[in-house]
Amino acid sequence: MRTIDSLDVKGRRVLVRADLNVPLDGDTITDDGRIRASVPTITALAGRGARVIVCAHLGRPKGKVAPEFSLAPVAARLGELLGRPVKFASDVVGDSARSTAEGLADGEVALLENLRFEPGEESKDDEVRGAFAGELAELAELYVGDGFGAVHRKHASVYDVPKLLPHAAGGLIVAEVEVLKKLTEEPARPYVVVLGGAKVSDKLGVIANLLGKVDRLVIGGGMAYTFLKAQGYEVGNSLLQEDQLDQVRGFIAEADKRGVELVLPVDVLAATGFAEDAEHEAVDATAIPADREGLDIGPKSRELFAGKLADAATVFWNGPMGVIEFDAFSGGTRAVAESLIAADAFSVVGGGDSAAAVRKLGLPEDGFSHISTGGGASLEYLEGKTLPGLAALED
Ligand code: ADP
Ligand code: MG
Repeated sequence: MRTIDSLDVKGRRVLVRADLNVPLDGDTITDDGRIRASVPTITALAGRGARVIVCAHLGRPKGKVAPEFSLAPVAARLGELLGRPVKFASDVVGDSARSTAEGLADGEVALLENLRFEPGEESKDDEVRGAFAGELAELAELYVGDGFGAVHRKHASVYDVPKLLPHAAGGLIVAEVEVLKKLTEEPARPYVVVLGGAKVSDKLGVIANLLGKVDRLVIGGGMAYTFLKAQGYEVGNSLLQEDQLDQVRGFIAEADKRGVELVLPVDVLAATGFAEDAEHEAVDATAIPADREGLDIGPKSRELFAGKLADAATVFWNGPMGVIEFDAFSGGTRAVAESLIAADAFSVVGGGDSAAAVRKLGLPEDGFSHISTGGGASLEYLEGKTLPGLAALED
């Protein structure tokens, strides 16, 4: 992969695909980790006299303009972190984007509005996506891919634009790939992967491949309930991926066949509803009442999981163990994070919400070997898949 050092950027418009997909509460950014991680590449380019046009997505507006997913608050925060103003274009490839791009002086930085306001960004139709990529490419002369959290997406700004412009990989992508390589090339064993979170259907797909690589797979968070149900237990109103029960039964059999230890919660915090102050109690994972939903792993599971991490030599963790937005249900995630910090292991945390949880819980970031900005992207890398956004930068 070419790095930005290989590009002659002075006086040229450089489109930087960053990952600025941060959690928001209204228009307040609750964790700016991904913005911080994007700063070094932007600073380096601007410092060399580039006219930097940053593009990124936020949330899932699904091809329509939705003010609650505007990147405007991110532009303000990016400006603070860069220590220089960031011009904000109120559209992606329209009049505002074009005039903003054209108006940039050497060393100036602009941010375009949310890429996913445009249906072309995520379109599965190569032509539709290609046409939008063409419009994006017209804004600039060079392209830098630095949005690691999105490299597993075959999206216009990630996959198609680098085909149209001379390109290079930004420093964040280079650093992320270096760490993940260590996990794929002869990881020290026992190698444990901990999975949780809510994007169950996204993440179930990675399990089949991981079963061939890891010694132990620990499952918590919203994903665990599909496993519990697949084993025949009642999960009440817990998050459940009904259409993937057969697939999950297959994983359980496959793990057994391959000698991979599959670790599931033995108890959960069962709540009366999805709320911060919902009444709740710890119940065995085999006895979740029909009118309750599991919002965190329980105390016995915390201990079980801690034991499964204590002797690990390599750990990759993606996805909170419970609803970390609610203090009452963040204990499981804290326990797993603390176990990783205590373990004498090469430990990597990946995923926007997982990384944000570490910071929100006030845990030391340097307690981990690496905190990745990408969840899905890291997982797919670990599976050994070709990631569209990395492949596009290789050519
Ligand atoms: P990451 O961003 O780290 O990849 P995800 O986006 O997959 O993680 O998942 C994070 C979300 O998972 C959080 O918003 C959290 O509330 C949710 N979550 C975790 N456990 C549960 C659960 N038991 N029920 C519902 N949501 C859950
Ligand atoms: Mg997430």
